[in-house]
Amino acid sequence: MNIKEIIDKEPIGQEIEIKGWVRTFRSNRFIALNDGSTVKNLQVVVDFENESEDTLKRITTGACLKIEGVVVESQGNGQTIELNSKMIEILGDSDPEEYPLQPKKHSMEFLREIAHLRPRTQTFGAIFRLRHALQFAVHKYFNDNGFFMVHTPIVTGSDAEGAGEMFRVSMLDPANPPKNEDGSINWKEDFFGKETNLTVSGQLEAELFALGLGKVYTFGPTFRAENSNTTRHLAEFWMIEPEVAFNDLFDNMDLAEDCLKYVIRYVIEQCGDDLNFLHERQLQEEKGLPEDKRSMPLLEKLKFVSENEFVRCSYTEAIDILRNSKPNKKKKFQYIIEEWGADLQSEHERYLVEKHFGKPVILYDYPASIKAFYMRLNEDGKTVRAMDILFPGIGEIVGGSQREERYDILKQKVADFGIEEESLWWYLETRKFGTCVHSGFGLGFERLINFVTGMTNIRDVIPFPRTPKNAEF
Ligand code: ATP
Ligand code: MN
Repeated sequence: MNIKEIIDKEPIGQEIEIKGWVRTFRSNRFIALNDGSTVKNLQVVVDFENESEDTLKRITTGACLKIEGVVVESQGNGQTIELNSKMIEILGDSDPEEYPLQPKKHSMEFLREIAHLRPRTQTFGAIFRLRHALQFAVHKYFNDNGFFMVHTPIVTGSDAEGAGEMFRVSMLDPANPPKNEDGSINWKEDFFGKETNLTVSGQLEAELFALGLGKVYTFGPTFRAENSNTTRHLAEFWMIEPEVAFNDLFDNMDLAEDCLKYVIRYVIEQCGDDLNFLHERQLQEEKGLPEDKRSMPLLEKLKFVSENEFVRCSYTEAIDILRNSKPNKKKKFQYIIEEWGADLQSEHERYLVEKHFGKPVILYDYPASIKAFYMRLNEDGKTVRAMDILFPGIGEIVGGSQREERYDILKQKVADFGIEEESLWWYLETRKFGTCVHSGFGLGFERLINFVTGMTNIRDVIPFPRTPKNAEF
């Protein structure tokens, strides 16, 4: 049995063996032991007359122990059962002086510097059990709804995905690459015989499969080499990308909203202990703040989002709202909204969600000029069937669209965007054979976890974050 099972089943009177790490050891008598199966610790009452001086000295925060004992009803407060130890074995040496995770409050910044040890803290235990549950819920949602998962490639030969700067994949000797006559690098001699990169999105390949299997999704790592040092961007992150034949933009919104609500409900039902812990943690963190600076308590926020309809608002309406907003008129925004056509910055998205609507918002029908080439052109000739879902505290969590399915228009868009047609011949060709309306979106997995855990920095919800100048662990 692990600690979760022991706490759930309360096998009073049973003799058990348990292994785990010491969180705290008080009064030479009480060990708080954790094995990662739950946020809760098992209280072990040490039979100190039975243990050697040496053993007692080596029971320190961070030490790894094997304990045999009997489960009994707890004499103290704070737990219903505890373990009376009969035999304690120290499994690994631990230097209490040097162990960086002392039982006190550590800053998230400090914990990022010891990312090899942070999985042993209560907070990161809770975050990563939730991360697991969320990915399971995502797969369950799509499987239960008749989707097929497609593993789209991580190394891509197309540089036209259009979502951002890419990381090059090359085996050429950087000090002495083969050259063409004009002095440029001869990529034909590289491993794949052409320039290749790490993918920024599995969408284009997912589309090919949607046009054969109907309802598909990808859930894999994606890479962006943008130098954006924000709390919302990683250079390596995981993205969920469903793609559905015959769905139009509004079906696409329904799917995204339903999926988000499902996975949030799933963790509310399955991960109560971890969510309660993070809820309490957030209340503690924000205790000192004035009331209007505090965020909605975590459990309330999750319930609110999973039970309320998302607002749907066109880009054009949003621009009107923003133009007439207080922060715009008082020049409080860093980027003042003047004209239709302006790209929305995170400050505008957050104003709409947090101040104006007070709910998640689906913005749609954006100007063609600020969106990717593959989005379906509307009848007005100037907007495309794009949609972004904006969440409180997060900003954009989903970006998606109805795809341009008309061959001539898509071919023209490719040319207008300055993309070489040859690099996308296979994508264009799907529009020649049995083309149809279809739609999809990308949901950033870490932004979802940030929302569900109430963390404020995306570096704290991925095991080992990759960001500019940082790939230590
Ligand atoms: P943003 O404007 O926030 O930089 P984007 O518009 O570039 O995002 P998309 O290309 O639409 O992002 O990607 C789809 C989703 O992937 C986003 O809605 C977001 O949830 C997530 N995402 C995008 N870039 C990153 C990143 N660098 N790190 C983590 N998640 C990301
Ligand atoms: Mn986007």
